[in-house]
Amino acid sequence: MTRPPLTNMQTRDVEALLHPYTNPATLRAEGPFIVSRAEGLHVFDAEGRRYLEGMSGLWCCGLGFGDAELIETAREQLGRLPYYHLFAGRSHEPAIELAERIKELAPGAARVFYQSSGSEANETQIKLVWYFNNARGKPQKKKIISRAKAYHGVTIVSASLTGLPYNHRDFDLPVDRILHTATPHAWRGAEPGEDERAYAARLARELDALIEREGPDTVAAFIAEPVMGAGGVIVPPEGYFEEISAVLARHDVLLIADEVICGFGRTGQWFGHQTLGFKPNAISMAKQLTAGYAPLSAVAIDAEMAAAVEDNASRIGVFGHGFTYGGHPLGCAVGAKALEIYQRRDIPGHVRRIAPLFQARLRALADHPLVGEARGLGLLGALELAPDKSGRAAFEPAGKVGARMAAELQARGVILRAMGDVIGFCPPMIIDEDGIEELFAPIPDALDATLAWARAEGLM
Ligand code: PMP
Repeated sequence: MTRPPLTNMQTRDVEALLHPYTNPATLRAEGPFIVSRAEGLHVFDAEGRRYLEGMSGLWCCGLGFGDAELIETAREQLGRLPYYHLFAGRSHEPAIELAERIKELAPGAARVFYQSSGSEANETQIKLVWYFNNARGKPQKKKIISRAKAYHGVTIVSASLTGLPYNHRDFDLPVDRILHTATPHAWRGAEPGEDERAYAARLARELDALIEREGPDTVAAFIAEPVMGAGGVIVPPEGYFEEISAVLARHDVLLIADEVICGFGRTGQWFGHQTLGFKPNAISMAKQLTAGYAPLSAVAIDAEMAAAVEDNASRIGVFGHGFTYGGHPLGCAVGAKALEIYQRRDIPGHVRRIAPLFQARLRALADHPLVGEARGLGLLGALELAPDKSGRAAFEPAGKVGARMAAELQARGVILRAMGDVIGFCPPMIIDEDGIEELFAPIPDALDATLAWARAEGLM
């Protein structure tokens, strides 16, 4: 793939921006991919070429692009009340309406607290857990357990919860009191002959041993994405959350569900924890909360946490936490409209109906020699590229084959995300049969081209 010289806009970009999750040297050589507009399932580059957006942006645009109702809601809200806050007892109707809608959809949610991003939601979760345990007279109970390959954000504590090397290296992270346990990925982690249930039970025993080793009186919470997203779309083995929940309950450890990707229909239920069959004490939401049309995130906590937090703050004098843009009217109005659309159009039901076709097309690629594992749940999927199908081998160096595959796909009009050597899929939830056809059509050819390249490079 030969590349033309950088355009003027690309040059302006590399001279002005530091890009997240980007290799700066590669960016300077190749230039950014500049998106100029979007419509439905598609985005268009500066030259007007059309691409199917198979990742919903960053797992967020579940209703696709250009939804007229969301756009009109945003316009109307900016005209009526472009900004107000929730500090010192202030409020506004969009914040109230969205919180009521979240409570209606999330069984067990007693109170909703807003932020702008998923990172801030998880940062807030940990502050709430610490506050809660101080309030209930357990000041030693503060450690948080996350998992290797988890993704919970990039602020100091949320990046510490994240279990990916690039988010820690040279940032002096993780901070203390944050621990990681094993990734629940049977293909890579189960012993030969160990079935999913036995593997899940072993992971739960390992978690139990970790809590015992640390001291149950020091362990406050366990945080988990129902299906791990940015770590590679990892679906836990059967029985995993059932086993884990029992361990946590035994040690009085709270369970936080990070629903930033899985929330609002993505797995075929309103929340991923419903699909995976567990009951969290608290939930983090973002991304599809507003269908990606405005920045907003939220934390929902159960009645016990809410009561303790409210009692403690009432006694101290004020709840000393909050963000200028937490509960921004634009985000709340768009969020309330997005949730109303998901309900009216029964988006979770649509996901349940279309997901079998999506999963079948994905799994049909498992026989390709470059595909180690094809996996997914609902409208989430992954192709893990590997030198063989054993689950024991990985490419060296990691990430080159994945990046090449993503580039081959993009050259064929499909945008998917390479997370190392895992190709992630998270198409808009409104995708239909034709969209799935368009998404999968170029993949075999892109796999063949990547395989030929990997062999020529001596990578396999
Ligand atoms: N949690 C999960 C599960 C996520 O996928 C993400 C973002 N990819 C975050 C938290 C962090 O969200 P943000 O980028 O909005 O801070």
